[in-house]
Amino acid sequence: MSIERLGEAIQRLRQADGGGESGPLGMLPRQFRTLVDVVAGPEKSGLGQGTANGLDRCDDVIELSVEALKQALKRSGRDARRAGALLGLALWWPGDEPDVDWCEDQTRRRAELTAVRGVGHELVDRILLLVLGVATMPLSRAALRVGCRHGWSGLESEYDEWQQLFRQGSEWANSSLEETDRLIRQVGRSHCRTRPDCVGCPLESLLPEGGPYEPE
Ligand code: SF4
Repeated sequence: MSIERLGEAIQRLRQADGGGESGPLGMLPRQFRTLVDVVAGPEKSGLGQGTANGLDRCDDVIELSVEALKQALKRSGRDARRAGALLGLALWWPGDEPDVDWCEDQTRRRAELTAVRGVGHELVDRILLLVLGVATMPLSRAALRVGCRHGWSGLESEYDEWQQLFRQGSEWANSSLEETDRLIRQVGRSHCRTRPDCVGCPLESLLPEGGPYEPE
């Protein structure tokens, strides 16, 4: 079953990772700072001084022009190209630590996030998972590539089928979706790029007979 094969793959990736931490370091749910980290990347140490950059509070971010926000992101070593999307998200953010019910109203939050300019489906899922604490798997390019190449699912599968696969595979491996997302993206960067580099990949022994299927 695909779920077991995915579960086994998650376990292999965790072993190869040295059984590292299960979630992104220092990302606390329901914090505006976490939203900034998820959208534009974490602050590079030594470059920014946290609150001195004015990126920890949405009220401060809203006051900035796109250009000023770009500069603030750049100063903290983040991706300045995300300034426009971040500004839209700051306007969406409900203010100091949102309550759990607001976060868990997945249907409304998803609809609102999808409407923010510059925020694609994968980022919507990542915000839901890492910022609002909703159990949803970001369907990154890496997740789809690895899943298709191993035959766990196909590009023709619906969004909900992929979600179910990753949710159940993570449960099987006793992993959180945060950890699964991190491990899959890691193998996507190290081996499973546009062309798969299977030799030496932690998932090499789990390939289908005859090698990876080609999704693209
Ligand atoms: S590089 Fe090959 S073995 Fe590694 S995840 Fe991709 S398809 Fe699987």
